[in-house]
Amino acid sequence: MPVELAVTLIRAVNTHTLTREEIDALLQTEGEQAKALYRAADQVRAEHLGEEVHLRAIIEFSNYCVRNCLYCGLRRDNRLLTRYRMAPEEILAAARQARDEGYWSIVLQSGEDPAYTVDDLAGLIQRIKEKLDVAVTLSLGDRSRDDYRRLRDAGANRYLLKHETADPALFARLRPGTTLERRLQELRWLEELGYQVGAGNMIGLPGQTVETLVSDILLLKDLCVEMAGIGPFIPHPDTPLATSPAGSLEMTLKVLAITRLLLPHTHLPATTAVATLDPAGRRRALQAGANVVMPDLTPAPYRQHYDIYPGRGRPAGEGAASFAWWEREMAAIGRKVAIGYGHILRDDGFHGVVDGHRRPC
Ligand code: SAH
Ligand code: SF4
Repeated sequence: MPVELAVTLIRAVNTHTLTREEIDALLQTEGEQAKALYRAADQVRAEHLGEEVHLRAIIEFSNYCVRNCLYCGLRRDNRLLTRYRMAPEEILAAARQARDEGYWSIVLQSGEDPAYTVDDLAGLIQRIKEKLDVAVTLSLGDRSRDDYRRLRDAGANRYLLKHETADPALFARLRPGTTLERRLQELRWLEELGYQVGAGNMIGLPGQTVETLVSDILLLKDLCVEMAGIGPFIPHPDTPLATSPAGSLEMTLKVLAITRLLLPHTHLPATTAVATLDPAGRRRALQAGANVVMPDLTPAPYRQHYDIYPGRGRPAGEGAASFAWWEREMAAIGRKVAIGYGHILRDDGFHGVVDGHRRPC
């Protein structure tokens, strides 16, 4: 390995800083050099977060969407998709099932679906928080500041709103009718409202350059996010990007690893997309900086219709909804499943019950 690269990695492990040029060089590494990057990220993860992997049970409660994102199978113009909406009672039942399984943390995700009013959602969150002892993450896309406030007041702890790409022109092209500027504004609102905030991006979007990925990583550092979902783009046959190639696993792992070097306390999931791309993807992500897994607890028959990209599915069929299955899976790679809500403590102490984590940066 060139001495320069070794020095860069040692400094990044110790100071969590990298210049644009250094990030660019790390993204171009291959073979043994890329492995050294993954090892450095794994070291930072072990040092700051230990061997614990947080499980977040995701419930995808509606696949209706008013948006028309060029990359996504749920886009409005995809007429081939069977649409569904779960009733609040069904969502509550799915959350209870997740809690009964042993999960302490649930994620409610959907397309952008205004059929659920803010009152509906706030009522649902309130009931979940009253009846079940779980942390609640929302991933519902763009909403007004007032809606975000109402949902936070109802008890939501976290909000996952990926910035998708740090290139404003690419963002506007891939997400018609929306802007990166507005998304960044929303991320600031969420932060102000006391949510633990998650952003993140896709790797391998058509029109994306290495330079864009450097900006993605620096943006995550700048925002000092508490979560970052980093996953490959996977083409969906019923979208305008059907013939574009998928993002590469290696590039995804490099972006993930560099993000870990810069953000030692941030929750970084081994995304479902990375597991979809390659059977070894999840394990490799967990050994390149990731410390979170998001098992899909969406009940049948809905789960198969949450077709954001093809090939999503449980790694070992039905078994993979179970907490015990994940305990075994993590033990096999020398890790253990975390018990508790998996909060990060911020300086303002806003998040109430904490598990001894420090601020992400
Ligand atoms: N509607 C909400 C949440 C559902 S989409 C939202 O857009 O925020 C959740 C995530 O799926 C998006 O943030 C995007 O990064 C990812 N996604 C969508 N289409 C994808 C594709 N073709 N390949 C990989 N990830 C995709
Ligand atoms: Fe809708 Fe989200 Fe898919 Fe865009 S990415 S079409 S907002 S579900």
